[in-house]
Amino acid sequence: MLRAMTTQPPPRLALANLPTPLFHSHALDALVGAEVWVKRDDMTAGAETGNKIRKLEFLLADAQRAGADVVVTCGGLQSNHCRATALLARGLGMRCVLFLRGEEPALREATGNYFLNRLAGAEIHAISATDYAMRDTLMAKAAEELSQEGATPYVIPEGGSNGLGAFGYVHACAELKSQLDAGDAGGEAFEAIAVACGSGGTAAGLALGAKRNDVATQVLAMAVCDSRAYFERRVADIMFEARKWAPGLSRGGDAELVVLDEFKGPAYGMATEAQLEFLVAVARVSGLVLDPVYSGKALYALAHMKDRPSRVCFVHTGGCPGLLAEPGTLTRQLQPERQ
Ligand SMILES: *Cc1c(COP(=O)(O)O)cnc(C)c1O
Repeated sequence: MLRAMTTQPPPRLALANLPTPLFHSHALDALVGAEVWVKRDDMTAGAETGNKIRKLEFLLADAQRAGADVVVTCGGLQSNHCRATALLARGLGMRCVLFLRGEEPALREATGNYFLNRLAGAEIHAISATDYAMRDTLMAKAAEELSQEGATPYVIPEGGSNGLGAFGYVHACAELKSQLDAGDAGGEAFEAIAVACGSGGTAAGLALGAKRNDVATQVLAMAVCDSRAYFERRVADIMFEARKWAPGLSRGGDAELVVLDEFKGPAYGMATEAQLEFLVAVARVSGLVLDPVYSGKALYALAHMKDRPSRVCFVHTGGCPGLLAEPGTLTRQLQPERQ
């Protein structure tokens, strides 16, 4: 009995609108230089949309199992993960406490994800970059205090990236397999799945799920910060942790994980002129809206990498609220097109 149970994936709440469509455009193929099928995970939901909801399907199921009435998590001021958590927690009748790295803007200047956190009534602690380095300690302390007040807290790490959250993208691989089996994307497996990599959980789930589900043998994790060495270790750690939840995953069959860090741009949240021009070009040939922090850098990386695979599934992880929060980023690129 116990053995049968432990090979099952962990319990999941159905929160996202699934399956997400596979989008294809010949003009986009030409721009990228490969046959690209875009897995529209920017369409997983309404305001809570993006890749984080898939992880939260597992994390919030665990929070409910633990009887939690308040969720504690962290991220940047414009964190998509925090916004998704704040909204979804409310939908499940829970409070949400956020530790956000950055200076809290006045409400009248609140934009994007931060604005949506305020709308959801999240309890926000804006903290310095130095304090953010100790985020796990700060969240543990907050949880302790909440417990003393009689609440039942549940702490979710940055990006929802732990072993349990990774199951969101193991599940996404099974979903993709069903789509291929139904004849979508020509019905054939991809050479690779490409995705932005910020805290590693999405790449970890894909590396665990892609080959086992026969959708691809390689995962291209396009780092948007940190280094290749950092993410190789980080993603491996998350995969290791995931196997504890479902030991069935320890038997063979991981996809090859390739981390590329040469396209991350000047810093997290900062893109090169060429990356911004590419993001604008993508919108103008395909109508797809990428964001400058994650998905824009990731598709740019795919278009510019050496030995690019010829048939790829690109996971569009969302990020639109962050783009809308800083329209000034694209001032130069959005000068009127001249004939
Ligand atoms: C969080 C995020 C990512 C990165 O996913 P990780 O699992 O944190 O690596 C990519 N794109 C968007 C839009 C995100 O919000």
